[in-house]
Amino acid sequence: MPIKEQRTPTPSRVIGNILLAISALFLITNFILPFVLGPQIPGVPYSLFIHQVEAGEVERVQVGQNQIKFQLKTVDNEPGTVFSTTPIFDLGLPKLLEEKGVEFAAAPPPKNAWFTSLLGWVIPPLIFVAIWQFFLRRGGGGGPQGVLSIGKSKAKVYVEGESAKTTFADVAGVQEAKAELVEIVDFLKTPGRYTEIGARIPKGVLLVGPPGTGKTLLAKAVAGEAGVPFFSISGSEFVELFVGVGSSRVRDLFEQAKKQAPCIVFIDELDAIGKSRSSGGFYGGNDEREQTLNQLLAEMDGFSAEGATVIVLAATNRPEVLDPALLRPGRFDRQVLVDRPDLSGREAILKIHAQKVKLGEDVNLKAIATRTPGFAGADLANLVNEAALLAARNQRSNVAQEDFAEAIERVVAGLEKKSRVLNDKEKKIVAYHEVGHALVGSLMGGSGRVEKISIVPRGMAALGYTLQLPTEDRFLMDEAELRGQIATLLGGRSAEEIVFNSITTGATNDLQRATDLAERMVTTYGMSKVLGPLAYQQGQQAMFLDNGAPNPRRIGSEETAQAIDREVKEIVETAHQQALDTLKLNRDLLEEIATQLLETEVIEGEKLHSLLKQVQTVNN
Ligand code: ADP
Ligand code: MG
Ligand code: ZN
Repeated sequence: MPIKEQRTPTPSRVIGNILLAISALFLITNFILPFVLGPQIPGVPYSLFIHQVEAGEVERVQVGQNQIKFQLKTVDNEPGTVFSTTPIFDLGLPKLLEEKGVEFAAAPPPKNAWFTSLLGWVIPPLIFVAIWQFFLRRGGGGGPQGVLSIGKSKAKVYVEGESAKTTFADVAGVQEAKAELVEIVDFLKTPGRYTEIGARIPKGVLLVGPPGTGKTLLAKAVAGEAGVPFFSISGSEFVELFVGVGSSRVRDLFEQAKKQAPCIVFIDELDAIGKSRSSGGFYGGNDEREQTLNQLLAEMDGFSAEGATVIVLAATNRPEVLDPALLRPGRFDRQVLVDRPDLSGREAILKIHAQKVKLGEDVNLKAIATRTPGFAGADLANLVNEAALLAARNQRSNVAQEDFAEAIERVVAGLEKKSRVLNDKEKKIVAYHEVGHALVGSLMGGSGRVEKISIVPRGMAALGYTLQLPTEDRFLMDEAELRGQIATLLGGRSAEEIVFNSITTGATNDLQRATDLAERMVTTYGMSKVLGPLAYQQGQQAMFLDNGAPNPRRIGSEETAQAIDREVKEIVETAHQQALDTLKLNRDLLEEIATQLLETEVIEGEKLHSLLKQVQTVNN
């Protein structure tokens, strides 16, 4: 039975509307109407008023609390004009008026004084409440809202029978994750089987993986397979507006969920609330986030006692920042890795998304999968859509392989920008730079075969590019391959050095990546002989233990830091020298390919392979 989102007009909602109306009325009667209709007495500065009193021009004065009205003397039977001024604290005024023989009196109290003062006391708080309401209502999407339901959960509820039901068939390339989640589906479908034996059904499952790998999709699929309601809320939504709202939202979310058990509560971006409580560091924690987190922990501890099967799925791409308390047994004690798909996984994902578009006969999904290492599911979905857009733009009735080829380049390197014009000198530099990458890259293992060199600018950053495609998926790299990659990255700059004897800013990104890679070799992969097979983690996260004391194993000493720097420098410079040697040895070939590239702008395929076959290896 489908359960719809509840949105009944509660009494509190009605009260809220009445309050809004009263506030508006108050504003109109007190500020807007007097302004429009009110007695228009011209105002003058106080000094002028005193001046006129002293000059004996004033007939009578009425002193009110906020206003002094005064009338000038009658001249030629014309009654004097009435002016007003704002009083200032002046104890000498009565004396002065008496001296000048001016008739004066205090202003009579306004007739409706009780009413005004009542309004004055009652209305401002009402306005405040009304504004509060307004913001809450804006902040809250669905769900019951009103004065008395501040902080009600705005979890979206997806339920069985919804038109777009997600199942495991919609998710591909994450076999291990699916296998683990099949078990969860079973818990939800037949909790009795487990509890009879005395097994404790896990409460929390944490999906960990990079963005776009299908974590949200998997959570929905679990609900879809089990046929249970799916409450979804994002961690970042908790951390907003008023202190205390986050924790009451958590409470309410679980209350709703328990009523509909068995069901799934999905918390996306768990790291937004679940950040380690000690990681606030010197700046102190975020109280609101902490309260929300504490409430979440309390709820997760609570609901098993009540015998309801509520399974909390959560997703994060930063498991390392999560509070350890979240990962304790009885909370998110299961972690499921949702990683980027491998070759066959990518093919399967492409197959799923390609069903939505008309494919040409020549399309080879396997070939596309081979060319897209590192793409996550979302990137592949995007790729299929790009290809379809290109086909439509080229007025084709179905998507061809060449559309996919162009879409890949688009997704990888940004949109082709034919309009960007380089001057001849720049073009020449870019050509030698790219050929430098290609020549060095063709000799080095580990980074794949050079498939294309182009000096057609793409996207924002790349003026030209060299495309290297792996011939297979790689999971492990050895030291020589990493050094080869670094040399390849430095090949561009080395070519500039050799040919032009100068360096441009074009290699910034290459240098950054080369340095990062070298640093990882030393600090993460333990490939340095000097520093040994230790992991030297750097950065904020790992620097302090729970009690705030520095962690001596992780934070390196000054000496270690210097040793790391030296090692990184050694690796990069060796690679640089290797690139220079290779290019010097193949100087003629560098000339030849660069000249061709300047003519055609792109060299690829067989032509490129046969040129690169001529590269000679430096013997040493
Ligand atoms: P995440 O939550 O991990 O950031 P999403 O689940 O939001 O990623 O994925 C976004 C979209 O990308 C999905 O709606 C789906 O279309 C596509 N996608 C991602 N991963 C996969 C996958 N493994 N199989 C099929 N489609 C996927
Ligand atoms: Mg997501
Ligand atoms: Zn480069």
